[in-house]
Amino acid sequence: MVSVYKHEPFTDFSDVNNREAFQAALTKVEAALGGKYDLVVGGERIETEEKIVSTNPANREEVIGTVSKATRDIAEKAINAADEAFAEWRKWDPAARAGILFRAAAIVRRRKHEFSAYLVKEAGKPWKEADADTAEAIDFMEYYARQMLAIAEGKPVNSRVGEHNEYFYTPMGVTVVISPWNFAFAIMCGTTVAPLVTGNTVVLKPASATPVVAAKFVEVLEEAGLPKGVVNYVPGSGAEVGDFLVDHPKTKLITFTGSRDVGVRIYERAAKVHPGQFHLKRVIAEMGGKDTVIVEKDADLDVAAEAIVVSAFGFSGQKCSAGSRAVVHADVYDELLGKVEALVKQLTVGDPVTYDNYMGPVIDRAAFDKITGYIEIGKGEGRLVVGGNSDDSKGYFIEPTVFADVSPDARIMQEEIFGPVLAIAKANNFDEALDIANNTEYGLTGAVITNNREYIERAKRDFHVGNLYFNRNCTGAIVGYQPFGGFKMSGTDSKAGGPDYLLLHMQGKTVSEML
Ligand code: NAD
Repeated sequence: MVSVYKHEPFTDFSDVNNREAFQAALTKVEAALGGKYDLVVGGERIETEEKIVSTNPANREEVIGTVSKATRDIAEKAINAADEAFAEWRKWDPAARAGILFRAAAIVRRRKHEFSAYLVKEAGKPWKEADADTAEAIDFMEYYARQMLAIAEGKPVNSRVGEHNEYFYTPMGVTVVISPWNFAFAIMCGTTVAPLVTGNTVVLKPASATPVVAAKFVEVLEEAGLPKGVVNYVPGSGAEVGDFLVDHPKTKLITFTGSRDVGVRIYERAAKVHPGQFHLKRVIAEMGGKDTVIVEKDADLDVAAEAIVVSAFGFSGQKCSAGSRAVVHADVYDELLGKVEALVKQLTVGDPVTYDNYMGPVIDRAAFDKITGYIEIGKGEGRLVVGGNSDDSKGYFIEPTVFADVSPDARIMQEEIFGPVLAIAKANNFDEALDIANNTEYGLTGAVITNNREYIERAKRDFHVGNLYFNRNCTGAIVGYQPFGGFKMSGTDSKAGGPDYLLLHMQGKTVSEML
């Protein structure tokens, strides 16, 4: 009997003991920075000449680690290793596969602050965000392991007299996992362990900005007893190695999380059947967002201001679920704007090694240039209320920035900026607010701040997003509590951390025997 799933609690940093423990982990990780990490293919370590140098976005000079970079030849080896390992791994008892996830979760839990400290350093995450990222990784392992046990026997089907019918799920084969840097641990871990526990084998290509935390996790899986070749670790250029892995005729399933454009490219490429390929590839693609917080005139404006600010500026707006748009009823617009401005002025920006900094840097030079470019665009599209400044002298720091009086069609209302930039628009009634909220190509998350039951019911029906929240922020979905995934160009709505997720990694098989 397995215990009931309960999500991993967040660390209470108001407790001085917890702060000291986290600080000690940071000190330990700082002393270990600059290590060398090899590729892992078929259980063998492979060092390549070309490297990815992972640096701290808060301090470019600090090297987190130097990671070997996969070539196409190595990617080919990794696919073959995964294909060979599949022959045995698919026959493992699902409970034994789940057991490896439980063990890996226990190892990570013991080293929780250490993993979070790597996220502070490699991804620029403030303590609380890093802690939540690690907790989510643990949750994915605990939740998917239990889900596997629940679906291992298949589902009941009917049998007529004289026949016996069965319906159960079988794994698919080689799975290419392509993960983003923004939940460098949680999403990388969740999208890796879901195919594993369902009996598939994995070629993992993590984001180039955060390969070290992924290397550390592969070590955990090995320590937990995962056989050789079941996970292969091949960081490399998205365009070079990514395309190759997606196109490969032995690839059965691709699970991608990242930007809209890369997701669309993968979806299109995966549709092509290559010589020697006897199957259609399946793609799970979780992509971008342009998420909206709607505020009605009856709302508690303190709740609304808090929801807007947390949604827009948590982890510097670098969440697919970030509420980068707010749509506010005209009757409360000015008052709410004042409250938002006051809260944003209290936010601190700086190196996230310091607990007190609410926001750290953005991830890299390309992100910095893109976001500051959007701030310039915003100055022509709205009224700058607060923020707008940036500093790239040491790391990539950008102030939380708010534009008001923005037209619903403006670029900063339509395009995913993926940084600390909030656009606010005015609506005259709830219908207009919903129309504005639905007017982007994305459909990931949204929030409505209201106590009006009629509006709540209408939003449930008509606010076209995968994750809808009332009277709270639109970020922070918890595994097993708020399954996560988006509509429209936000992806294939796989609902990570939900009861249907694992089935996307398997094929239903019907067996019928005449007795
Ligand atoms: P990205 O698309 O730049 O990169 C994601 C991954 O794709 C990386 O590993 C990258 O190396 C790889 N890649 C790049 N080009 C490739 C190619 N041609 N073939 C194969 N792989 C390729 O995204 P990012 O900057 O790492 O992450 C931010 C984006 O991810 C945002 O758009 C955000 O909204 C989205 N995101 C979505 C979710 C979700 O659940 N919907 C969650 C997190 C992030």
